[in-house]
Amino acid sequence: MNARNMRWGVLVASLALALTACGGGGGNQLAGGTDIPVDTGAKFEPGTTMADLQQGGKIRIGTKFDQPLFGLKGLDGTPQGFDVEIGKIVAAKLGLSPDQIEWVEAPSKTREEIIEQGRVDMVVATYTVNEKRRERISFAGPYYEAGQDLMVAADNTEITGPDSLRATGAKVCSVTGSTPAEEIKKYVDPQNLTLFDVYSKCADALRTGQVQAVTTDNVILMGLVENGGGKFKLVDKQFTSEPYGIGIKKGDVAFCRFIDDSLTTAAGDGTYEKAWQATAGKVSPQAPTLPQLDPCS
Ligand code: GLU
Repeated sequence: MNARNMRWGVLVASLALALTACGGGGGNQLAGGTDIPVDTGAKFEPGTTMADLQQGGKIRIGTKFDQPLFGLKGLDGTPQGFDVEIGKIVAAKLGLSPDQIEWVEAPSKTREEIIEQGRVDMVVATYTVNEKRRERISFAGPYYEAGQDLMVAADNTEITGPDSLRATGAKVCSVTGSTPAEEIKKYVDPQNLTLFDVYSKCADALRTGQVQAVTTDNVILMGLVENGGGKFKLVDKQFTSEPYGIGIKKGDVAFCRFIDDSLTTAAGDGTYEKAWQATAGKVSPQAPTLPQLDPCS
């Protein structure tokens, strides 16, 4: 990045922060103050999920409540983050404004279950697409690609990647029902692996020295580092690929295609990038490009 681009980046970032500060809440605004136009004239074939949601005037979206940058519930009771903005983008295409969204907490272990039981209409929750999950639900997207990494105490110099965990006898924390919890079993003996239901509990365990590392996707860890008051750092050695999809009822191909079209439109008109800049972009300014979408099935 040259000096001019850098200055421009700083300016854009400061502007986004300023807009956030005076953005207030409500309306159809991104966290950074950017409008997501609500498609009030949208028309859907009767009997489709889209028509039902539009007619019902409400959508229930599962997301995380304790993950800074992607889904973090604030004092006003509404979550904020990139996943939340993706949810709002899809809702807007259904003609639904943010105040017509009911946010439902979706910890990793519960995601397939709440979709199957119809307790949510979709899940946008740092949710890796994989074949095992596809046996129970369908995914639209992916809309982002993360990768597993490690977070350690800021002064830790021993843990340099997953291969150093066994040698240092490190205790590691992750979350039940997550892909990182499975992957890390290759590198850590069972007695050294602690699993909680949410990542904020792992951050607490690292803060108090009960574990020496937390493992999950790099962007989740970046949020925890950012909120950790200088106590944590990212090891920054990504060792998996985690494409984030939007979980929906298994076999709802029309809804999957609709979500994919909404993502493609948002990427084309700049809304996707603005959603990033207003949320995760505060820590990782380089906006991603929308990954190639998987076929709907
Ligand atoms: N993306 C991984 C997963 O879906 C880890 C993040 C999470 O637990 O939400 O399992």
